[in-house]
Amino acid sequence: MALIVQKFGGTSVATTERIKNVAKRVAKWHRGGHEVVVVVSAMAGETNRLFTLISDVTSNTRDSEIDVIASTGEQVTIGLLSLALKELDINSRSLTGWQIPVKTDRQSTKARILEIASKNILKETARGTVPIIAGFQGVDGDNRIKTLGRGGSDTSAVAIAAAVNANECQIFTDVDGVYTTDPRVVPNARLLKTITFEEMLEMASLGSKVLQLRSVEFAGKYRVKLRVLSSLTDPDYPLEYEAKSGTLITYEDDNDMEKAEVSGIAFNRNEAKVTIIGVPDKPGIAFSILDPVAAANIEVDVIVQNVGKDGTTDFSFTVPRKDLEKTLDTLKPVIRKVKAREVIGDNKICKVGLVGVGMRSHVGIASKMFKALSNANINIQMISTSEIKITVVINEDSMDAAAKVLHQTFELDK
Ligand code: ASP
Ligand code: MG
Repeated sequence: MALIVQKFGGTSVATTERIKNVAKRVAKWHRGGHEVVVVVSAMAGETNRLFTLISDVTSNTRDSEIDVIASTGEQVTIGLLSLALKELDINSRSLTGWQIPVKTDRQSTKARILEIASKNILKETARGTVPIIAGFQGVDGDNRIKTLGRGGSDTSAVAIAAAVNANECQIFTDVDGVYTTDPRVVPNARLLKTITFEEMLEMASLGSKVLQLRSVEFAGKYRVKLRVLSSLTDPDYPLEYEAKSGTLITYEDDNDMEKAEVSGIAFNRNEAKVTIIGVPDKPGIAFSILDPVAAANIEVDVIVQNVGKDGTTDFSFTVPRKDLEKTLDTLKPVIRKVKAREVIGDNKICKVGLVGVGMRSHVGIASKMFKALSNANINIQMISTSEIKITVVINEDSMDAAAKVLHQTFELDK
């Protein structure tokens, strides 16, 4: 017997039909002798609908009433799922964030979880009841409802799994696990049976949408055993197979297997490149440029700077594409101040990253990557590396070709 947290996202509970299927799946695990704790999202599209209502009334984005509204989608799902389980003769009860309580800090619409009263969850499982918990929400020290940021119910599930010390946290979603890369771009992408937590973190930060980045960070901190698996299979799929399906996120010291050079390729088209040309090469230049950008609350990612022979330097970095105009406006006065020639923006770029803990023990991965891209006639504009990741910035039009050629070069389909 194990204690298992099962999380079902928006697409998995998109209709009442699907909610009934979720109930069948939960019932199967419960009848299989496991203690099950369920965490759910709002029905697909519901949270978007709520945010549209909010923006019809206010342009404010940080008022506590927004959380009050945004959190209601999950309350509908917990009630429906609990009813559906009772129809299958399983004892069940719904729990909102404040009823547990899931204590958060006071940041409206992007609160962080501080503490979870696990005893109120375990009290239910101890008497054979399946608790159905609303994800994405909690309550702060002033007794106000708070939400955790879009996609936050993944984090709720992982945090609850950590709090109740679950044997496994199963994230059921509309894909069957984590793939070597996006199968819509590379058709022979392969499902990974396992991926290390560090790799998952890099994939998520590069834009892989399978898990919310914060939930992966949380899992790593508390070493929660996470599995990503499909909720779209037959709910009567035998439990012993389902238990081994999908992708398990492991911790590197769990096993010392020989690691492949590269485990996955992630990419994202949501960034833009900013280049400042002809910056006089003096100490403090990077600070004078990036400080106003940070003050404008714009997140900077890849940064490249190189001093030329004429004593000036070109300084480039990437920002979220939606912030490009704001970045250029912020930098105009800065250009005059630092006596640079000009600032230009390019929103036709994308970032492609190779990820693999095997990079620590294999040499020559970067040159193999650059050679493959060069053979495919793809121009690299920027490069950045970490211990287990190599990222290049290239023209957006070459993204699919780059993903395909790298997938093949590193034999990820094997
Ligand atoms: N319902 C929330 C959202 O759409 C939380 C979640 O789905 O994880 O962002
Ligand atoms: Mg989601």
